[in-house]
Amino acid sequence: MTTNEPSDEVLRQGLDAYTAWVSALRQGKDVPPPVADGDNPLARLGRELQLLSETISRREAELSRLNQVVLTAEREILVEDVLDSIFRGFVGIIPYDRIGCAFLSSGGTRLTSFWARSNMGPMRINKGYSRPLVGSSLREVFRTGEPRILNDLEQHLARHPASDATRNIVAEGGRSSLTCPLFVDGRPLGVLFFTSHQTNVYRDIHQAVFRQIAGQVAVLINKSKLFQELVERNQFLLRQAEQLQEAANRDPLTGVLNRRAFLLALERHMRAGAASGKTLGLVLADIDHFKSINDTHGHAAGDEALRAFTARIGGLLRPGDYLGRYGGEEFLILIGDTPAADLPAAVERYRAAIADDPFDLGGVIRPITASFGIAVVSDAESTPEEIVAIADRALYEAKAGGRNRVVLAAASGHGQAG
Ligand code: GH3
Ligand code: MG
Ligand code: MG
Repeated sequence: MTTNEPSDEVLRQGLDAYTAWVSALRQGKDVPPPVADGDNPLARLGRELQLLSETISRREAELSRLNQVVLTAEREILVEDVLDSIFRGFVGIIPYDRIGCAFLSSGGTRLTSFWARSNMGPMRINKGYSRPLVGSSLREVFRTGEPRILNDLEQHLARHPASDATRNIVAEGGRSSLTCPLFVDGRPLGVLFFTSHQTNVYRDIHQAVFRQIAGQVAVLINKSKLFQELVERNQFLLRQAEQLQEAANRDPLTGVLNRRAFLLALERHMRAGAASGKTLGLVLADIDHFKSINDTHGHAAGDEALRAFTARIGGLLRPGDYLGRYGGEEFLILIGDTPAADLPAAVERYRAAIADDPFDLGGVIRPITASFGIAVVSDAESTPEEIVAIADRALYEAKAGGRNRVVLAAASGHGQAG
């Protein structure tokens, strides 16, 4: 026995002090350890206990940070947001300057980059970058299911000069990487790549850390990926439906509204106009002597005249005005929110725009005129067809009066059919 050895009594007091300390720690209390100096067994045990307590605290903090990564990412719905959240969340848990995520595609034969964030500067591997798995060392990563460390990417490239992905990552400035395979229900989903601009950055501990939440991260990414695919598919279908609807409303030759769509728009505006007390003008326009254009220059020139006619009128429309093809060389124009007295001047602009400059019908230059009949819509009693009939009678007057002119239908009450 040396003189340093404590007496039984001191040992017993020391043991009691440590027992109380460990018990307090276990109950989650933050109490300082008993003083452990000297070189006796009790002091050595005390220091070991202290180290153990620090290790447990560190692991606890690490686990709670990992949990936080998953919890935060879980709030996101779209896969890019989940990955962005992971990019922010892993700081301080695994070292990296870049994270990339790639998914297996083409029946698991290719790996296609989906997302990447980098603090190293411009990226060479972006969304859509795709490489076959065959011949790639990544196959081994999927086979083992274990995160892989490459702590010298330049050396790896020298050994695998055919690896385009490695070449690009090295060119981006990457010098070491941790490649983490993602599995869902035992099936490989893709890979999360952590890359650092320094060599020798990754350690077993980083593999172990990733392994702890690999399953949760994979499920999270997969869930958001499936959701996003659903959203994109849905958007695609909606766009298609819109395009179909749009095509169904258009006259294929001129691209303006067809008769059905125009009359529906007219009906809507008549109702809105009646509710707000605003006056609408409905114009029926008919190209003069159109038959002679076909007869003289051919049907193709006639078609070109129809397109050029709608382009000129279309260019003069104000917001809220509509142009439609009634049929043949007859067109409808809806002029919104204009007092009846101002309608003839408004339509006179259209007449002049047609008559003032000759048309170029694919090489043939030819003057064209048109006649216009206007009906005033100031009540909601009439149907669109009745309004068109009123405009048609005014148009007939314009034709009878010598063509190339604008006639406003005499004010009438309700449309008088027949
Ligand atoms: P008016 O001055 O009295 O209106 O005489 P018009 O010759 O314009 O009238 P008419 O109704 O006699 O002739 C219309 C012509 O328009 C007859 C038809 O063949 C032609 N037409 C109708 N639709 C089209 C088309 O889509 N393309 C071409 N090129 N011609 C068309
Ligand atoms: Mg006609
Ligand atoms: Mg005509």
